Amino acid sequence: CYRPTDKSKVLDGRRAHFGGNLSLTYSDPVMLVRGWKHHLFDEWGRPYLDAYNNVPHVGHAHPRIQAVAADQLKRMNSNTRYLHPAQTAFADKILSKLPDQFEVCFFVNSGTEANELALRLARAHTGAKGMVTPDHGYHGNTNAAVAISAYKFNKPGGIGKADWVELVDVADDYRGTFKRDDPDRAQKYADLVDPAITALTERGQGVAGFIAETFPSVGGQIIPPKGYLPAVYKKIRAAGGVCIADEVQTGLGRLGDYYFGFEHQGALPDIVVMGKPIGNGHPLGVLVTTKEIAQSFDNGIEFFSTFGGSTLSCRIGKEVLDIVDDEGLQENAQQMGSRLIAGLRALEAKYDCVGDVRGMGLFLGMELIHPDGREATEICQFIKNRMRDHRILIGSEGPKDNILKIRPPLTIEAEDVDMILTVLDKVLAEASQG
Ligand code: PMP
Repeated sequence: CYRPTDKSKVLDGRRAHFGGNLSLTYSDPVMLVRGWKHHLFDEWGRPYLDAYNNVPHVGHAHPRIQAVAADQLKRMNSNTRYLHPAQTAFADKILSKLPDQFEVCFFVNSGTEANELALRLARAHTGAKGMVTPDHGYHGNTNAAVAISAYKFNKPGGIGKADWVELVDVADDYRGTFKRDDPDRAQKYADLVDPAITALTERGQGVAGFIAETFPSVGGQIIPPKGYLPAVYKKIRAAGGVCIADEVQTGLGRLGDYYFGFEHQGALPDIVVMGKPIGNGHPLGVLVTTKEIAQSFDNGIEFFSTFGGSTLSCRIGKEVLDIVDDEGLQENAQQMGSRLIAGLRALEAKYDCVGDVRGMGLFLGMELIHPDGREATEICQFIKNRMRDHRILIGSEGPKDNILKIRPPLTIEAEDVDMILTVLDKVLAEASQG
C-alpha cells in the first residue's frame, strides 16, 4: 500500500505541518513501513538492521503481541475503574522481577508520566520539593520532567535550572573528574551530592529525592562505577529524600547480567520507573514503589489515568515480560552483548579515533575522539550516516554527540552482530582516512 514515490510527499508534509523541532535522524532520512524482529524495511522493501531501537524490546511485529492486542480489542478495552484480571496479572508479573519491598504498581502511558508521578509521590512522602539529579539526564517532555532533565533545560533556548533542582556531575569515569584509575571514584562522585543537598536545604526547598537514569544514556551510555548509587542513596535518605531509579532504558533484561540496572550497583531504590520497552511500541509507563510511599500518596485525592492500565495495555505489558522469559532474551542480550563488546574493543585497539568502548549487554557506547582526546562529533556523525548507507541503524549520544549508541531489540543474532562489526570496521577505516 506504499509507493516508493510517497517518501518525498511525506517529507514535504512533515515540513509543512509539523514543528521544526521534531527531529529526523540522518541527513538522508529513512521511511520505514514494516518490521520483523530486529529488521526494518523501507518503502522499496529494502531491509535495515535495527541496532538502535530499544522500544521493540522483543522485536518488531512480534506475533504474540499482535495476537493479544487483536484478542483484547475484539473483547473490550476499558480502564482501572473496573475489575479485570489482566491488571493484577500484569502487576504480579512485574513485581515478580523486583525485590520484595516493591508491592505497589501505578500504570500510566509513558516514561514521562511515570517520572512525573514519581515526583508527586516523592513530594507527598517527604513534604519537601527539592530534587537532586545528575547533569545531562533525560526523564521526559512535560514541565516537571523537563525541569529534572538537564539535557533539555540546560541547552541554549532551554528554560534553565529551577530553584528546586540541583545538578551533580555524571559519574562518568572515562571523561569526568574522577577516572577509572582512581579506586575511590564511586565515593568521590557520590560525595558531590553533599553540596547539592546543602544548597537545596539552604534555599528552603528540602530534599524530596534523587532521580537518575541508572546508567545515564543521553549522558553518553555511562556505566557508573559499582557502589556509586548505594553511596548516593545513603546520603539522600539521610537528608529525608526518596531514591528514584529511572530504568526506562536499562530495565527488563537489556543489560544481560541484570534485569534492572540498580542490581549491578547493589542499590535498592524506593521507586522504579519503567517505560519504552515495556509496551514494545504500545504507549505504556509503569511506576513501582513500596506500600509506605504509596500510602503517603493515598491522601484522599483520586489518582486516575484514562488509558494508563487499560485492559489492552496490561495484556500487552504482561505479554512483553513473558516473551522476554519464554524466549530467553535476557540471556541472548548477555551473549550478543559480550560478542559485540569484544568486537568493539578490537576496533578500539585498531583505530585511534575510538577513545572508549563501554556498556553492558545490549546497552553499548563507543566514544569517538580527536588525537588530543577532544570529543569528535563530526566523526561520530559521519559514521552514523555511513552505517545508514549500509542499512544499519545506530544512534549517537552524549553532551557533545560523539558517542555511537548501539541498543538493538533483544532478538539480535550472532550474524547481525558480526555484520555490525564488519561494516563498522570499514566505516572507521574511511573515517580514519579523513
Ligand atoms: N526516561 C528515560 C531514561 C528515557 O530515555 C525516556 C525517553 N527517551 C523517558 C524517560 C521518557 O519516556 P517517554 O518518551 O515514553 O515519555
